[in-house]
Amino acid sequence: MAGAWAAIGARRAGASVVLVEKGWLGTSGVTATAGPGHWWVAPDDRPEAIARRLAQSGGLNDPGWMARILQTTWESLPTLADVYAFPRDDQGLPRYRALRGPEYMRALRRRLEGIGVTIIDHAAAQELLRHSDGSIGGSAGTRLPGHAPWRIEAGAVVLATGGTAFRSRLLGSWNNTGDGYLMAAEAGAQLSGMEFTAVYCVAPARTTMTRSMSFAFATYHDEAGQVLPIGGPDITRPLAQALMRGRVFADLARTPADIRAHVPTISPNFLLPFRRWGIDPYRQKFEVTLHGEGTIRGIGCQSASKRPPRSAPKSDPFGARLSRPVAA
Ligand SMILES: Cc1cc2nc3c(=O)[nH]c(=O)nc-3n(C[C@H](O)[C@H](O)[C@H](O)COP(=O)(O)OP(=O)(O)OC[C@H]3O[C@@H](n4cnc5c(N)ncnc54)[C@H](O)[C@@H]3O)c2cc1C
Repeated sequence: MAGAWAAIGARRAGASVVLVEKGWLGTSGVTATAGPGHWWVAPDDRPEAIARRLAQSGGLNDPGWMARILQTTWESLPTLADVYAFPRDDQGLPRYRALRGPEYMRALRRRLEGIGVTIIDHAAAQELLRHSDGSIGGSAGTRLPGHAPWRIEAGAVVLATGGTAFRSRLLGSWNNTGDGYLMAAEAGAQLSGMEFTAVYCVAPARTTMTRSMSFAFATYHDEAGQVLPIGGPDITRPLAQALMRGRVFADLARTPADIRAHVPTISPNFLLPFRRWGIDPYRQKFEVTLHGEGTIRGIGCQSASKRPPRSAPKSDPFGARLSRPVAA
């Protein structure tokens, strides 16, 4: 999603753009499996929204960046109206905030193809190419089938390889192995906020199904069938503590009828594991677990330009890769 928007922005600014994707742009990544909710705030409400987030983050956020993100989102999302069917509110106005991941990614792909961005699927970026002055001049990797090598020289490279929850079994995150972080670090970028990675998401045990909306109505039980005191806005901590004591089960019997009716539309994939198992989660208990979300939910990364380029020591395992010059 981030890569698609970056490509749209660059193309609209007049650049010729190639987007390489490790999977298939439209189905890979966490956006495609999720229901992304954008930070959609009207201009008058922004000072208060920014102040609230700043307080939540203990002052670590950057208000200027937040304002820029809000404005960019405000301007960008409506431009998809011809390729994405935004739902309407009671007054008939489009609702931009929450999108359905699969349709959202399909819309972005259609937009990219429509404006002439070259998309290369199944092409993992594995390294950045460097000019002799240290600036980045392209990237290279291999492509399926056959791991054929590719190499693209470019005036600018945007890394948008998602966060990483390295193989935590979080839905859609299998491809997100932190390659962009690695390449950025190799190029001298300073990563920040990497310590904020303690978010976990509940899922039925032995599945990757981290669509968690329905768990707002879950009742949790221990192995003996005793109801556990897990509820409220933060279930992760008490659930983690219960999981350390033994297996934990849940049922979704408290889900109101109107929500049940909407689940197949809001989270079409949520009920699939239950169907396969022949379990009715609204009547029967099923085992649950937690999956780490790593840095998938957003982490800061300062640009290399804020730091002098790192000179790699001889023993640096990254040095050999980064030393490949553009003109080689
Ligand atoms: C369970 C869950 C719930 C969430 N809930 C919310 C929410 O309510 N609100 C919200 O705003 N956000 C939420 N998020 C976060 C949000 O979904 C993500 O921040 C956002 O979708 C990330 O978009 P992205 O483009 O950065 O990453 P992705 O959509 O994951 O895209 C990254 C892409 O990079 C590709 N890639 C990886 N490595 C390479 C490589 N070496 N070469 C080429 N391509 C590569 C991958 O294949 C992938 O397609 C949630 C996330 C999860 C997992």
